[in-house]
Amino acid sequence: MPGGESSLKKLIEITNHSDDISLDMDFGPGITNQKAFIIEDECIGCKKCIDACPIDAIHGASNLMHSVINDLCTGCELCVPPCPVDCIELVQVNENDSLTARNNSEEWFQNTIKLRQRRIKERSIVDQENNLKIGKEINKQLNNRSVDKEKNIRQLQRKILMDRINEDQDGAEFINNLMDKL
Ligand code: SF4
Ligand code: SF4
Repeated sequence: MPGGESSLKKLIEITNHSDDISLDMDFGPGITNQKAFIIEDECIGCKKCIDACPIDAIHGASNLMHSVINDLCTGCELCVPPCPVDCIELVQVNENDSLTARNNSEEWFQNTIKLRQRRIKERSIVDQENNLKIGKEINKQLNNRSVDKEKNIRQLQRKILMDRINEDQDGAEFINNLMDKL
C-alpha cells in the first residue's frame, strides 16, 4: 500500500475518520523501509535486474558485476524475481534513509521524463530536417522527370510524324521539316 501505516494515520487525521481503520493487506503489503543489495560475488552480470528497475537504481555492464545505487533504491523489490541466481537481497533501513531514497528517486524519475521529452523534441526537429531534405530530393526528381517527360513527348511526336510519312509519302518533305524542328 503506497504510504503504508504513516500515510493511513495522516489520512485518518485529515478526514476526521474514526481511528480503528487498519491497512487492508488484501490490497498488497505496506511499504517497508528496505533497499536492495546485490551479493556482488554471485552476480553473473546478466542485466535482468537493470531492465526491471523502474528508476535506474542499478548500474553495471554486461557480464560484469552489478550494484545498487543506495541513494536511489526505494526497495520496490521489482528487481528481485528476475535475478536468475537469486543474488539480490532486501535489507532493512531506517525510515529516514528510505524516505530520502524515495524523494531522490522521485526527482530522478521526473528528470528522466524531462530528458525523454527533450529527446523526443530533438528527434522531431531532426525528423523535420530529414523531411525537408527528402522533400527537396523529391522535387529535384520531379523536375528531372519533367525533363524526361518533354523528351518522351518529342519522341512520341516523332513517332506520330513517322507514321504519317509512311501513310502519306506526298507530305514526307513537309513532315521531315517538322521533325527537324523537334
Ligand atoms: S528494489 Fe526497486 S528501486 Fe531498488 S534496485 Fe530493485 S528495482 Fe530498483
Ligand atoms: S539479475 Fe542478478 S545476476 Fe543478473 S545482473 Fe542483476 S544481480 Fe547480477
